[in-house]
Amino acid sequence: MNPIYVDNNATTQVAPEVVEAMLPYFTELYGNPSSMHRFGGSVAAKLGNAREKVASLLGASSEEILFTSCGTESDSTAIWSALRSNPEKRHIITSRVEHPAIKSLGEYLAENGYRVTFVPVDRRGQLDLDYLKKHLGDDTAVGSFMWANNETGVIFPMEELAGIFSERGVPLHTDAVQAVGKIPIDLSRMKVDMLSISGHKLHGPKGIGVLYVRKGTPFKPFLLGGHQEHGRRAGTENAASIIGMGRACELAAENMEAENKRVRAMRDRLENGLLEAIPGAAVNGDRGKRLPNTTSIAFDAVEGEAILLMMDEFSICASSGSACTSGSLEPSHVLRAMNVPFTSAHGSIRFSLSVYNTDAEMDLIIEKLPPIIARLREMSPFWKGGACAAAFSA
Ligand code: PLP
Repeated sequence: MNPIYVDNNATTQVAPEVVEAMLPYFTELYGNPSSMHRFGGSVAAKLGNAREKVASLLGASSEEILFTSCGTESDSTAIWSALRSNPEKRHIITSRVEHPAIKSLGEYLAENGYRVTFVPVDRRGQLDLDYLKKHLGDDTAVGSFMWANNETGVIFPMEELAGIFSERGVPLHTDAVQAVGKIPIDLSRMKVDMLSISGHKLHGPKGIGVLYVRKGTPFKPFLLGGHQEHGRRAGTENAASIIGMGRACELAAENMEAENKRVRAMRDRLENGLLEAIPGAAVNGDRGKRLPNTTSIAFDAVEGEAILLMMDEFSICASSGSACTSGSLEPSHVLRAMNVPFTSAHGSIRFSLSVYNTDAEMDLIIEKLPPIIARLREMSPFWKGGACAAAFSA
C-alpha cells in the first residue's frame, strides 16, 4: 500500500525533476569545483547557476547565498557569526517556539555566559511584540525568529520584525526552513540580515542547506578550513545536492502560486472534515496566519502516539505534538508555550501536506480517523465528551 504521506514538515519527497538534475553529478560530472582544470571548472559554473536560482527565489543576489550541510548548520552559523562579530554584546533574543536547532543553541548559550531572552507567544502562537521590544537592549548581539513554525505553521510578522530590528541596529536572523518554497519571500523588501533554508523541506535532497547573508552583514565562518564559498564555509562543495537545491528552488518559484492554492484547499478540506466529524477537536494556532500546507489539530483526551500508531495501520503518516524523551511523553514545547492544556497538547496531530497529495487521500483520512479517536476515547479516563475547551481555534 502506498503511504498517505502527510508529514511534509518532517521531510519531503525529492521532486523527480530534482533527482534528474542531480544524477550526472554522481556519475560523469564528479569533478571538484575548486580544481584548476576544466573538468572541475564546469561543475563550478553549474554551482553558480544553482546559487542564482536560490537567490532569485528569495529576492536576493547570488553573492548573498552560502551553501551549508543543513538547516541546523545554517542556524548555528548565523548565530555564532553574529556573536563573534560583536564579542562585547552578550545578549540574544529569540522565541519560545523555535525549532531545536535554535532552541538548544539558545539554552547552551544561556548556560555559557550569555543572556538569552525567549519571547513568549499567545494562544494563537503569535509573538508578544511588546515583550520583544522591551527586551531588545544595547547589548543585544542578534535576534532569531522563525518565519513559520514547523508544528503549527503559524507565520511570524517578519516584515514588522525586520523594521523593529533595523530601527534598533540589531542584526536579525530568521529560520525560514519551513517557509521557503511554501510562501513568497522577498528579501529586497525587508531588512532581514540572515536567513536559513533546508533542501529537504522543499522537495530538494537531504544534507544541503543555505544561509543567506545580506551584503554588508559582518560575517565569521563556522567551519574553518579550505576557501570554499569565498572563505565563508570550508569543505568540498556537495555539488550534486547544490544543483538539486537550485532546481528545487526553481520549481518552487515556478509553481508556488498555483500549487499553494491547491495545497491550501486540500488542507482546508482535511481540517474542516475532521473538525466536523470529531467532537472535542480544535486547531492549534492562528488559522489566519498559517502556512497553506499545515494543520495541527488537538484531539482532546487521547494520546497522540496511539493515534499515530493506529493511523499507521492504514499507512497514514503524520506527526504528533509530543516528543518521547527519556521514556516520558512530554507535550511539545511549542504547544506548551501556547498554553494548550495538557490533555489537548497530548492528543495533537500535525498534518503537513505537499503538492503530491490528493483530495482522495484527504477523504480517506477523514473516513479513517474518527473511529480511531472514538475507540481511543472509550479507553480514556480523561474523555468526558463534548467540546474541546482546550486548543485555540479561530
Ligand atoms: N528549522 C526548522 C523550522 C525545521 O523545521 C527544521 C527541520 O525540521 C530545521 C530547522 C532543521 O533542518 P535540518 O533538518 O536541515 O537540519
